[in-house]
Amino acid sequence: MSNNDETQSSLKQLHQGLGIPADYSTSCALPLCLEPAALVDTELDFYQRQQRLTPAAFSAWSEMRDAATSQGISLFLISAFRGYQYQHDLIAAKLEKGQTIEAILRVNAAPGYSEHHSGRAVDLGTLGCDALSEKFGETKAYQWLVEHSGSYGFSLTYPRDNPFGIDFEPWHWCYTQE
Ligand SMILES: [Zn+2]
Repeated sequence: MSNNDETQSSLKQLHQGLGIPADYSTSCALPLCLEPAALVDTELDFYQRQQRLTPAAFSAWSEMRDAATSQGISLFLISAFRGYQYQHDLIAAKLEKGQTIEAILRVNAAPGYSEHHSGRAVDLGTLGCDALSEKFGETKAYQWLVEHSGSYGFSLTYPRDNPFGIDFEPWHWCYTQE
C-alpha cells in the first residue's frame, strides 16, 4: 500500500469508530490534510504544553509574534500541530459528554480534515480574552492580525460564512507560504 492508501485506511477506521458518516470526505468542503514530514518544537503554549509546527511555519510565527509584541499587542499560542489520533480523541471526548456527531462536526473537522494536521495552523490568544472565543474577533490582537498577518504568510482560514461550513474562528490562522 502507498503511504496515501495507508493514511486513507487508518482514517476510515478512526471515522467509523466515531460514527462519522461514510460520505464525510466527499460531502465536507474541507481538503484532506496530510501530517508533515518534519516538525520542530515551539515555545510552550498558554497552558505550558509543548507545541510543534513545521520549521517554516514556526519561523514565520515567531517573527509575527515578535512584531506584534513590539507594537504592544500580546499574541500567544493556544494550539498548533495536532495529529489524526489527537483529533479522534478530542471528538470521542465530546461524544462521551453527550454531544451529537453532527453538532461536533460543525466546530471540529473529522480526523484527516483539520488544518492543524498540517503543522502550519495555529490557534492564537491574547491577554484579557477567553481562549477560542468568538470575542477574540473584537480584540486589538485580531485587528492587528487582519492588518499584518499577510506580511508573514498567515491567513484566516474560517472567516464568517466561509465555504467550509465551519463556524467563524477568529483565532485560527494558517501559514500558507509553504
Ligand atoms: Zn484551529
